[in-house]
Amino acid sequence: NSTLGHPAGDMLLQQVAAALKAAVRQGDRVFRLGGDEFAVLLRDLRDASGAQKRAESLLRHLREASFRVDGVDLVVDAGIGVTLAPEHGTTVADLLQRADVAMYQAKRAESGTMIYDASTDEHDVGELAMGTELRRALENEEFVLHYQPKVALADQCVTSVEALVRWQHPTRGLLPPGVFLPALERSGLMQPLTRWVLREAIRQAASWRRAGMPLAVAVNISPRSLLEDDLPARVLAKLLAADLPASFLELEITETAVMTDPKKAALVLAQLNARGIKVSIDDFGAGYTSLAHLRTLPISALKIDRSLISHMLERDEDHAVTEALIGLGHRLGLTVIAEGIETDEVLDRLTQLGCDEAQGYLISKPVAPDALEGWMAA
Ligand code: C2E
Ligand code: CA
Ligand code: CA
Ligand code: CA
Repeated sequence: NSTLGHPAGDMLLQQVAAALKAAVRQGDRVFRLGGDEFAVLLRDLRDASGAQKRAESLLRHLREASFRVDGVDLVVDAGIGVTLAPEHGTTVADLLQRADVAMYQAKRAESGTMIYDASTDEHDVGELAMGTELRRALENEEFVLHYQPKVALADQCVTSVEALVRWQHPTRGLLPPGVFLPALERSGLMQPLTRWVLREAIRQAASWRRAGMPLAVAVNISPRSLLEDDLPARVLAKLLAADLPASFLELEITETAVMTDPKKAALVLAQLNARGIKVSIDDFGAGYTSLAHLRTLPISALKIDRSLISHMLERDEDHAVTEALIGLGHRLGLTVIAEGIETDEVLDRLTQLGCDEAQGYLISKPVAPDALEGWMAA
């Protein structure tokens, strides 16, 4: 997974394909589905337990095979989901969708292989279709990034822009992330999306910089992507490839990531910090906050959640919490950013409260790159 989309990853996947072909019997077929997924078509299976045995043997074969890319020895692990025709479907689409469900169950199970079981299939048909569509969308690069500026309250200067993903759907138009991110996460596709977003945002920032518009770009990183191995190394490689200094990239993470695995999160944050990549805590104040941990983490900013900001003038509690969070952030030496500013009144109050930066529809909605260029020039 971690090499998906890179030439080295492609070389590895070609070797995996070869290993799979060598492991199946004559008459069986191996297909590359895209990404890091393969389909293996086995014929003449007597029953489910026969299929299970063949899957286990394939997996053993993969795990024991040796792969070598660019002089580096690699081991491969996989999850195998099994569907049987005609029991689980009679069309390739149905069989693949259900194999997909079984595969994600297999990855969670110790065995690494799983036969499809309709009774444990929590995904409805709509979601399965969505998963397939999302996979195709990733392959066809149907996603686009819009950018929303953050400005310093002191002088209204743009400090950075946040990259927000949208899906340019072939028939349904431009879809906001709320519509597809949850399904994408459940389909196990968040990691490839995060990689694409990082690559695209870095490419865009490098291109703006070359064009004389130096702008740092902030990328949202899901909890799981943050805790994934070698995120810092991969981010750095992308920066180097684009010839972009690390100070032009910021990451936005949520408390969830920090809470899920505090030790690992601290390690990843330290590595990012050492490489000069700034990290903000997003949606701050929206949930349970581990203040004790925050104090020790190398982060540079707090983004106060929109749910607090949007009602701060009507709800005394929200005003009080916002005020307290600004104070807390400053005590910890952090930049405090307020998101979701829609009125001048809120902007003025936040300025009075000493908030450092602001983001919201009042300043600009998230817009396509060319519209942002126009907005910056205006
Ligand atoms: P977020 O990171 O909290 O982003 C802010 C969201 O609030 C954006 O919604 C933005 O359009 C919206 N917003 C900004 N200012 C205002 C305002 O003044 N009023 C109102 N009503 N809304 C405002 P969007 O673009 O729909 O994104 C929703 C969420 O999806 C993001 O929340 C973020 O959690 C997630 N997301 C977006 N892009 C990515 C991505 O590339 N990767 C990951 N992992 N998550 C992403
Ligand atoms: Ca995968
Ligand atoms: Ca964000
Ligand atoms: Ca937020």
